[in-house]
Amino acid sequence: MIRKILFTLTLIFTLFFSSCTKKNSGTEQAASSEHKTTITASFYPLYIMLMNIADGADVELKMLAPSDTGCLHDYQLTTKDMQAISSSDIVVVNGLGMEDFLDKVFESKSETTIVAGADFETVDDNPHVWVSVEGAIYEVKNICSGLVKLDPKNAEIYEKNSAQYIQKLSELKKIMHDTLEPFSGSTIITFHEAFPYFASEFGLKIASVIEREPGTAPSPKELDEIIQTVNAENSKSGKNVPLFAEPQYSSSSAEVIANETGSKIYELDPCVTGEISKDSYIESMKKNLSVLQDALKN
Ligand SMILES: [Zn+2]
Repeated sequence: MIRKILFTLTLIFTLFFSSCTKKNSGTEQAASSEHKTTITASFYPLYIMLMNIADGADVELKMLAPSDTGCLHDYQLTTKDMQAISSSDIVVVNGLGMEDFLDKVFESKSETTIVAGADFETVDDNPHVWVSVEGAIYEVKNICSGLVKLDPKNAEIYEKNSAQYIQKLSELKKIMHDTLEPFSGSTIITFHEAFPYFASEFGLKIASVIEREPGTAPSPKELDEIIQTVNAENSKSGKNVPLFAEPQYSSSSAEVIANETGSKIYELDPCVTGEISKDSYIESMKKNLSVLQDALKN
């Protein structure tokens, strides 16, 4: 597997539209010194991080893509999104190609400043960094330091909250490591390319991926190849390797594979949709943990 260093993961863009445009009246401009910082997350997993990092700060949080969107691979920018971006002080994105639909928006605005970027050891430029707990911790750190720079009046709150949330995530990571340790080296089949960081964090081997692009069913040839791979893995390990579908997508391809191989379908959640609550990432990961325990002990 090709591993390389990239220098943009969590990019935080600051947009100065509100202060640069002169359409506001004098009164509104005067009021802007008391202005509540508006922070927009591109999608759900980043919004949950922001709920933790900015809890209690004088900010307004927004989410660009609706919370049931899932990954943004095929997301189309709407007029409403453009308005939300232009009325935001800070836009938090994942980077690594997850928000390709925003490239033009950011490029066409000279006021746009990239103030935070970071390196992360990525797998084939794969953007699903938050799906590993270590990756989520990494993103929280980056978002926090970006916010501290851009919105210093809330810096203390951001730093305190981030430290607390990272502590909780570290505890989660330890529980998951301890629980999954006996299954290290196990083979799994996943649904889309969301799990390489997760798998590497917990010593799991992804033998095949059912749909490279979620929502695009594999061709008959691809399906046949996956079935052959799963059959080969099953006879090699002397048991049926688990297939992991995702709650956000139809599992019909997985069902075909299950019928042809005898492998069982389970559900792993890449945490791209869910409840709008501070602990929803941690809860989803705990659910993933118990699903994995169940799937791998068979
Ligand atoms: Zn994805």
